[in-house]
Amino acid sequence: MGELKERKYWIFPAERRRVLDELYDLTLLCNKCLYCRFVFAPEASDSRFVIACPRGDVFKHAAYYAEGTIEIARSIIEKRLNWNKTIEQILYTCTDCGHCEYWCSNAMRVYPLTIMEVMKETYVKEHGLPDKWKPVIENLEKTKNQFGRPAEERYKWLPDGVSSPKYADVVLVAGDVYAYKLSNIALAAVNVLKKLGVRFTVLYENEWHSGYLLFRAGLRDKGLEFLKHNIEALSATGVKKVVFLDPHDYRTFKKEALEEGLTYDFEVQHFMEFVLPLLKKAEHRLEKLNIKATYHDPCNLTRHIMPFPVWDQPREILHLIGIEVVEMPRKRLNTYCCGGGGGVPFSYPSLAKIIANKRLEEAKSTGVEVLITSCPSCVWTFTGESGMRVYDIIELIDKALIR
Ligand code: SF4
Ligand code: SF4
Repeated sequence: MGELKERKYWIFPAERRRVLDELYDLTLLCNKCLYCRFVFAPEASDSRFVIACPRGDVFKHAAYYAEGTIEIARSIIEKRLNWNKTIEQILYTCTDCGHCEYWCSNAMRVYPLTIMEVMKETYVKEHGLPDKWKPVIENLEKTKNQFGRPAEERYKWLPDGVSSPKYADVVLVAGDVYAYKLSNIALAAVNVLKKLGVRFTVLYENEWHSGYLLFRAGLRDKGLEFLKHNIEALSATGVKKVVFLDPHDYRTFKKEALEEGLTYDFEVQHFMEFVLPLLKKAEHRLEKLNIKATYHDPCNLTRHIMPFPVWDQPREILHLIGIEVVEMPRKRLNTYCCGGGGGVPFSYPSLAKIIANKRLEEAKSTGVEVLITSCPSCVWTFTGESGMRVYDIIELIDKALIR
């Protein structure tokens, strides 16, 4: 697969990640350079916002930064330390922001996040799931969505006008959070597609959770089962392009599928990649919203999908609809997590909100009152936490695009 070749330093081979003991050489490679703690130095424009790892930023203890967790892995492999509840907490407070993994896999090749995920997998095999994860995993087992809602209600908000796969240009994948919690935004995405004349279809109850949370839980085999199901269901439609609304789901198809060598015969795009060229063609139908805002890059549209990030597209779209972007110090590759990744919002909700507030302080430092993002978890963690108005970019596109 060409894409796998291009991402060779970033994608950790699946066959090497099954057993923690086999990653011992990687734990020895960590030289405590601390690249993984901080934003890339040339881009550290404001000394208040130079920490990159949100987990370490909150707990302020080496164990909660990648290099400290790697020491724990090494001690466990050397049988100098036993698993315990503190280690469980250290592992499951990681928001999966990918900062440590991106920078270290390109510099020292230690792959700290991969090590942490294999630690989780080992922990779950030996000691079971953390209690806080059990209800969500039960929901996924029973209903194939994280909220335990009926599968047949996944697309109940959809209006008429969905094409049959035979006539569709794309399959739209809303994902759990948009479908069950933020269906108003998913509906805005559907409005945009309709106004742009795109014929789309959906999988209805045949769409399962992408597997993202199962991978983060330490249940890789179960995550693969979900991912394979979705690949098969999408393939069966015969449609050649799949458009994801939720960056977590998109990343699962771009990263975990590649890691495992899973192939599919359709193109995958995030919603913003898909609509940008269509919006350019329809520029005469775009109203200028005339606002100043800052833009938060979701982790799963940046580091996790390198070297094919989706960070120019949202900025181009915002420019097209008359929104002036005032950038935060940490952006693009150095974006700071909203606190909504890694299952932290339900396992450690107060931690998610503390991290979100740190990011909101940075957003406020730009002097604007509007924060725009393109991820449902970011919308959730940011909303209600400050005086800032928070928008999903999809809502704004729908507002600006005239029928
Ligand atoms: S994990 Fe990588 S970046 Fe972090 S201290 Fe170790 S070698 Fe450096
Ligand atoms: S993935 Fe992010 S939150 Fe987790 S240890 Fe690495 S830098 Fe910290």
